[in-house]
Amino acid sequence: MTKYVYRFGGGVSDGHGLSKELLGGKGANLDGMASIGLPVPPGFTISTEMCTRYLDEGQAFSDDLRAEVAAGLAHIEGVTGKAFGDPANPLLVSVRSGARVSMPGMMDTVLNLGLNDDTVAGLATTSGDARFAWDSYRRFIQMYSDVVLELDHDGFEEALEIAKEDNGYFLDTEMTAADWQGLVGTYKALVEKLWGKPFPQDVHDQLWGAIGAVFGSWQSERAKVYRRLNGIPHHWGTAVNVQAMVFGNMGETSATGVAFTRDPAKGDRAYYGEFLINAQGEDVVAGIRTPQYLTRTAREAAGAKPLSMEEAMPETYAELAKVFDLLETHYRDMQDIEFTVERGKLWMLQTRSGKRTASAALKIAVDMANEGLITEEEAVARVDPAALDQLLHPTLDPTAVRDVLTRGLPASPGAASGAAVFDSETAQNRAELGESVILVRTETSPEDIHGMHAAKGILTARGGMTSHAAVVARGMGRPCVSGAGTVSIDAKARVMRIAGREVKEGDIITIDGASGEVMLGEVPTVQPVLAGDFGVLMGWADKVRRLRVRANAETPLDCRTARDFGAEGIGLCRTEHMFFDAKRITLVRQMILADSEAGRRAALDKLLPEQRADFTQIFEVMAGLPVTIRLLDPPLHEFLPHEETEFADVAEATGIGVEALRRRAAELHEFNPMLGHRGCRLGVTYPEIYEMQARAIFEAACDVADKSGAAPIPEVMIPLVGTRRELELMKIVVDAQAKAVFAEKGRTLDYLVGTMIELPRAALKAAEIAEVGEFFSFGTNDLTQTTLGVSRDDAGRFLTTYVDKGIYATDPFVSLDIEGVGELIEIAVERGRKTRPNIKLGICGEHGGDPASIAFCETTGLDYVSASPYRVPIARLAAAQAALKNRR
Ligand code: ADP
Ligand code: MG
Ligand code: MG
Repeated sequence: MTKYVYRFGGGVSDGHGLSKELLGGKGANLDGMASIGLPVPPGFTISTEMCTRYLDEGQAFSDDLRAEVAAGLAHIEGVTGKAFGDPANPLLVSVRSGARVSMPGMMDTVLNLGLNDDTVAGLATTSGDARFAWDSYRRFIQMYSDVVLELDHDGFEEALEIAKEDNGYFLDTEMTAADWQGLVGTYKALVEKLWGKPFPQDVHDQLWGAIGAVFGSWQSERAKVYRRLNGIPHHWGTAVNVQAMVFGNMGETSATGVAFTRDPAKGDRAYYGEFLINAQGEDVVAGIRTPQYLTRTAREAAGAKPLSMEEAMPETYAELAKVFDLLETHYRDMQDIEFTVERGKLWMLQTRSGKRTASAALKIAVDMANEGLITEEEAVARVDPAALDQLLHPTLDPTAVRDVLTRGLPASPGAASGAAVFDSETAQNRAELGESVILVRTETSPEDIHGMHAAKGILTARGGMTSHAAVVARGMGRPCVSGAGTVSIDAKARVMRIAGREVKEGDIITIDGASGEVMLGEVPTVQPVLAGDFGVLMGWADKVRRLRVRANAETPLDCRTARDFGAEGIGLCRTEHMFFDAKRITLVRQMILADSEAGRRAALDKLLPEQRADFTQIFEVMAGLPVTIRLLDPPLHEFLPHEETEFADVAEATGIGVEALRRRAAELHEFNPMLGHRGCRLGVTYPEIYEMQARAIFEAACDVADKSGAAPIPEVMIPLVGTRRELELMKIVVDAQAKAVFAEKGRTLDYLVGTMIELPRAALKAAEIAEVGEFFSFGTNDLTQTTLGVSRDDAGRFLTTYVDKGIYATDPFVSLDIEGVGELIEIAVERGRKTRPNIKLGICGEHGGDPASIAFCETTGLDYVSASPYRVPIARLAAAQAALKNRR
């Protein structure tokens, strides 16, 4: 019989050493904390396996499970000395979700479960605090109605507002026991009206309802969206944790809080967090009251008055600080912690590896390695390569003029400018049209996840540094300013007001998530300087990396950027971009529209010096490094004139009439250009084009070698080869030019001629092709298109559906289809190497910058990956991580 329920606390640890896969992250860590002797309220975890089973089997609970849960409850009762549903001494529990990886706020939790009309009186007696008992009961009804009964929560909030107004109160804390009791009556009536039945009084019904709801929340829309954005598989499921309640809302010696063992925004080694006296659970994150700082230093730095926890509860704080250190040493990572203080006693409710910004991730990894807590290699493995993207983002130009509207909390660093929008739908719609938007909300909730993702930055009027907006923005790498208290937002009227000024929907604003500033208009940005921790970690990464990293670049500027980011060569220099240059396009058109070889050669002769100049500049930047240059690839008609004036220009340059030119242009029309007259097919039919390009390459290479002494290593790449013969013909053309140029210049150079592998046939016939080709570069963009029979430009219409339905694990143009395209690559590698053991192998599609694809390149034994210049550091780190993983 499969075991589904694992108890923890009170000296018991059924889940000891078991995985997060089974217990969920929260469950595994509750068990972990309990077993190292930390004060954790007793409870039990229902495994993720049960969730999958429950969702698969039509949402029914088996008798086995019921028996196991009963035993779990008995465990909690034994440890606490309270009884579930007992009117004299009632046990209250929380029912908490917890997947393998944390999905903040995406799933549901119910607190104070076990209260009903009878037990509320018992709670009042045992706690000696009737006000607290009735407050807890109303919280429970409210939460249960929302999460389990799925009733609209507006009515509940309104009823509370009315109750306060009627009494002339401003704060929840002014409500008396009788006021709360009155509100409970209102709430129960509201439930009956909306749900059609009275609020469930049987505590066991309450419990099973909540367990079902937590499992069900795995399937909620927002959870699905979150999983899609974060690449979390749908089949994982969530665990359910049922745990004895502890109360932070039992008066002035009670509190609840959220803390990080280091600063999750900057990475500094300082406790970081917020707490609220006399409050419960979600109060801190929900931004209902403004929380107080944890440490005195943080409070003083912010110039805040309300005492920090360090000052208000020095003894409990000291105990908490010890727990922080213990947890960091135990889990060997920065922890994100939830705690509650019940009448002076500290309770730990959660710990997990904390989400952090990329710069914090870097700093923490480097610091921890220097502290000796982790090794250098572990530090390398700790930093998510994709997150480095954030660091390479521009920051605000410090010298620019700023029209500062207000200042909020610096919740997630980075700068962003865009049109202000006041709801997530608008954010998404405008972003889809290519507009940059800043999502402005009073506070965000998990329903805003798509809007936050679509936005370039997030601004909230309420909520602290650990609010939903702040946590999610940091995780997503979006700049965020939270708790900008002077901002008043009228989402209906689509306008916000700040100190007498108005910002309407669509007005451009800028936020600086590092300083908390909110500015009107767009503020210019500058490139960040990459040094310090970045350089240190990259150095460690380079030590363990086997794969070389090159860049895809075709302008001297891009090559410079790539080299600065550590590129060790160019893996793909596309030559067609050079043809689009305004000065040259007429010459290119002249060449294409010529109806004879002589006509083409006349145009090519004029293009030669231009093309040579391009390569000279690139070779100068990349001196001493390999540069792979792909000869002309796209269908010729891409260069054709469209406008009247463009035809006239060509006519004037060539002396051919506009009509004749039009006819020739029409002849070049193709039905399926992607599979048409392109790639080496151009070189086979018009060898003079490749001749000119090859000559330009060798002339430039010789010039640079003569001048600088550091000879570039040209690698001439023939695109879209499917047969050995194609490559052979093209190699003859290239070698002939090399020979001629070397004779003219009186010197020689090392160079290679190879091909892109971008057709399935080329992969299959790699053994033969390698007889001619000296290197293979996997052009995985086209190889994916030709293998899957999917056009990248047209896939948008069905791709999301395909990923949602699990047909493709991810977008195959972003992350390599390892099973299909990957197998072709493996075949080509094996067969190519058999013919030519030292054949050079690389990848130059978009996938060269994707960490999962890079891991595949490592295991397949490629020599290098090539990525766009800004992804070079990402590729270096990903290659290092892949090497580490492969070693194990
Ligand atoms: P989430 O994953 O959204 O943080 P949690 O399950 O952690 O959800 O619970 C939400 C809030 O309720 C947290 O602040 C948590 O600390 C608090 N909470 C959960 N269980 C208990 C409990 N047994 N006693 C007191 N507070 C609790
Ligand atoms: Mg929650
Ligand atoms: Mg939590």
